[in-house]
Amino acid sequence: MVIGAGMAGMAATLFAAQQGLHVVQAGLTGEVIYASGVFDLLGVYPPKERRVRNDPWDALNELVTAEPHHPYARLAPDAIRTAMDTLTAYLAEIGLPYKGHRNRNTTLLTPVGTVKRTYRVPESMWAGSQALAAKAPCLIVDLVGLRGFSARQMVETLGSAWPDLRTATIDVPGTSVHGPKYPEHVARMLEVEADRERFAAAIATHVNGAAYVGLPAVLGIYQTSEILADLEKHLNARVFEIPTMPPAITGLRLKEAFERHLPVLGVEAHYHHRVFDARPLPGGGFKLQMGKSEPEHSVLADRVLLATGRFIGKGLTPKRDGIHEALFNLPVHQPKHRDEWYAGTFLAPQGHAVSRAGIETDSQFQPVDAVGRVVHERLYAAGSILAHQDWMRTKSGVGLAVASAWGAVKAIAKQVATSS
Ligand SMILES: Cc1cc2nc3c(=O)[nH]c(=O)nc-3n(C[C@H](O)[C@H](O)[C@H](O)COP(=O)(O)OP(=O)(O)OC[C@H]3O[C@@H](n4cnc5c(N)ncnc54)[C@H](O)[C@@H]3O)c2cc1C
Repeated sequence: MVIGAGMAGMAATLFAAQQGLHVVQAGLTGEVIYASGVFDLLGVYPPKERRVRNDPWDALNELVTAEPHHPYARLAPDAIRTAMDTLTAYLAEIGLPYKGHRNRNTTLLTPVGTVKRTYRVPESMWAGSQALAAKAPCLIVDLVGLRGFSARQMVETLGSAWPDLRTATIDVPGTSVHGPKYPEHVARMLEVEADRERFAAAIATHVNGAAYVGLPAVLGIYQTSEILADLEKHLNARVFEIPTMPPAITGLRLKEAFERHLPVLGVEAHYHHRVFDARPLPGGGFKLQMGKSEPEHSVLADRVLLATGRFIGKGLTPKRDGIHEALFNLPVHQPKHRDEWYAGTFLAPQGHAVSRAGIETDSQFQPVDAVGRVVHERLYAAGSILAHQDWMRTKSGVGLAVASAWGAVKAIAKQVATSS
């Protein structure tokens, strides 16, 4: 039983199904749409020095030496690489190709004109990192009324170092000119060929020899590669997407792709269900109660993988007396006192102690208590719920979720093989 439908839950479900395990998955897929859709492995290390890293593997070596309890230190670099490659190979198979370099991070434009280092980007964003690297003649397009994106802000921020960077603003043909527009509306509209052609025509008058055209991430939900190729043909330029502020279409694409395709692998998926109760059974295994707003089904599972996230995902609950794990009431590694949770300033480089609170595990990703004893023989944990990591400050969100999911599923498969 995989509890969680964030990146860790989805990756664990995929890896387990690929290993021939019979998987039931539950979780609200809501959180994935907040993600920018790019896959960070390790972009900043050490966080205290805010050191931006071009080579994530180099940084990883330093991290596992300096932080032996970090979840990444539980895996060999090859295992982490295989986990990311297995996930992106699957996404390419189901129509969501990702790109990146083997041994270095990609530099990506953000919607506010800063640049970030990340490990894998959707193919639709790839030309953007090439335009940035070449400082090539490039047009960035604003859509009237679109929230969470400003081409003008980007040119303001980047313009001095990139003279050939221009911006233009267009109305989205076929939508009312008044009021806000949401990326999802535009994305669904661009799935229709006639609307796409009108959209391209509205941009074409502004291209004027630009080699690259940057757009907010609105190029469809199901046919992004086709829409990208079509626009490139119409505009006679390389086209790329730039992530918008969350909730982002890039997250929605991931959600839709996983929801549609994981069941094809034989997964019994319950994407709007919560697990309300989980009890260990005397003979081993667990009985779980799940449902939409109340328990509707029970599941008997030999093993459980907890990928319930942190405070947003509701895997961890902050209370007056401390931080609690919501389902099994597992021991949570955390600061002794509540007043140690936060550093003095919100953007403190070293981060907040509360961000490193979470579930401690052994090398098999099995939750342990304060003296290192395994809590339940058949319980595993993965993702941001794990202790001793600060994925936000080290830019390692998806990498950590996917790698720990890989490690936990490997351990489960081994336990299944040795117990059968
Ligand atoms: C705004 C935002 C931007 C981000 N940007 C990036 C980025 O640019 N790059 C990057 O690499 N990462 C990014 N991330 C992080 C990344 O997307 C993941 O959130 C992160 O990797 C943690 O994933 P997770 O699966 O551990 O947890 P979550 O994504 O929090 O998922 C937890 C899951 O558990 C489920 N759950 C919890 N309790 C129960 C229960 N009782 N029963 C059933 N299901 C339950 C929740 O419904 C949810 O599906 C971003 C995240 C956010 C929120």
